[in-house]
Amino acid sequence: MSGLGKGITTASIGRLLKNRGYLVTAVKIDPYLNIDAGTMNPAQHGEVFVLSDGGEVDLDLGNYERFLDINLKSIHNITTGKVYRNVIEKERRGDFLGATVQIIPHITDEIKHCIRRAALEPVNGGKVADVCMVEVGGTVGDIESMPFLEAVRQMHGELAPDEMILVHVTLVPMDTMGDFKTKPTQHSVKALRELGLQPDIIVARSSDVIGPQTKKKISTFTDVPVKAVVSAKDAPDIYQIPMELEKEGLADVVCSYLSLENREPDPAWYRVVSKEYTNRVTVAIVSKYGIEDVYMSIKESLKHAGRALSTEVNIRWLDAETFDLRDLADVDGILIPGGFGKRGIEGKIRAIQYAREKKKPFLGLCLGFQLAVIEYARHVLGIEDATSEEMGEGTHVIAILPEQEGVSDLGGTMRLGNCDVTLKEGTTVAGLYGKTAIVERHRHRYEVNPEFIAELEGAGLVFSGTCGPRMEACEIPEHPFYLATQFHPEFKSSPTNPSPPYVGFVEACKKNKLTSEVR
Ligand code: GLN
Repeated sequence: MSGLGKGITTASIGRLLKNRGYLVTAVKIDPYLNIDAGTMNPAQHGEVFVLSDGGEVDLDLGNYERFLDINLKSIHNITTGKVYRNVIEKERRGDFLGATVQIIPHITDEIKHCIRRAALEPVNGGKVADVCMVEVGGTVGDIESMPFLEAVRQMHGELAPDEMILVHVTLVPMDTMGDFKTKPTQHSVKALRELGLQPDIIVARSSDVIGPQTKKKISTFTDVPVKAVVSAKDAPDIYQIPMELEKEGLADVVCSYLSLENREPDPAWYRVVSKEYTNRVTVAIVSKYGIEDVYMSIKESLKHAGRALSTEVNIRWLDAETFDLRDLADVDGILIPGGFGKRGIEGKIRAIQYAREKKKPFLGLCLGFQLAVIEYARHVLGIEDATSEEMGEGTHVIAILPEQEGVSDLGGTMRLGNCDVTLKEGTTVAGLYGKTAIVERHRHRYEVNPEFIAELEGAGLVFSGTCGPRMEACEIPEHPFYLATQFHPEFKSSPTNPSPPYVGFVEACKKNKLTSEVR
């Protein structure tokens, strides 16, 4: 079932294995017909995560990258759209030699091929993983996921018993008397068995820890041994989940089923994710959608930077169309995320102006960078009608990227993924990265209009990052912390590798809090 935490469970099991020294990779299967998440509405489906190769994918791949410190590729997100496209292309080429092309075996063969290919892709350009986690999205019983579950069944038959295990994540709700109900689990396991799948492990998601009696009951109905029925209760912080699953003995079961030596887990990661907080800051995120999942990577990046600085980051979500400037008075920093389209941009520009004038720490990302340039053009350069070409009439200080002109397809056509960025020596951003050559991920169609660069710089805006003729970052030297980037540093942040712009921003928020307390 969606929203249950299959992605975090997948990432967490992977982490348990990684803590034991195994190399882990991960694949997400999304049974929708879209080729990728690029054209999907984030309000419905959550953030579109961007991979280094430019793949626009499901946000679960972000969790895998953050939990496992790996760089995945587009091939690690398998969708019905991609699978059918491959099969139909083969059919048109005549590869099937006259055969009737069918879901079984052609689609299921293609699914198995896609899983194997992704599993065999070297991790971070090095070795092939010891274990590949495969998350099958959707709900057991849905028409959409049938071919995938059938492919899983076939693979299970093709492999040795210790080469593949099945983990079933189920909901164990609590009734009004405070008793856990195992019925939904009984039924979903029954549905799985009808498809020829018997789970090896059950991860029972619940609001509280499920005890031995409930586990026993689930075990009796499902033939899964009690030790392989694992309680996974709601957790306030996702990074604590591997630890909770460790306590439940899940890693021992996984290792024994997969005939992997159960090595002593390295505690280093737990130390990083449970570093004590000694202080707390409040950051305002002024955004178009009131849905936190849309800004998942930003939220997580603030957490990573906060942990590293022993600072809890409390987020105040403000609706760009309705917020009041007074809502910004007591925050320690203001963040403007990426986005598309006109709605909410005037509010975001007002928030940026406030941050600039009141000297509040400011971090702008992608659209946030473009709006910072627009705000500067309007209020410092005096170009009153400054705007972005994306937004309609006005003076276009932000214009379409030349290579984007005439592009009509929306899917997979933006400037996407890794690009080299050169940082200007002596600037804030170069200081944060500690070097001048960096690589960050992108997802945009518009850029700073080259015709206005000299004028903007003449008025004090420093373009501190570039990629050839493209402007990639800007800052204001006299401001305590004012940094905006055309790239999305949040797609490369993890607990063990917090993103430099976020670290700089949270650090500045800390300082802001101290000085405002003194005042
Ligand atoms: N809409 C802007 C562009 O296409 C910004 C994109 C973004 O914020 N990801 O350039």
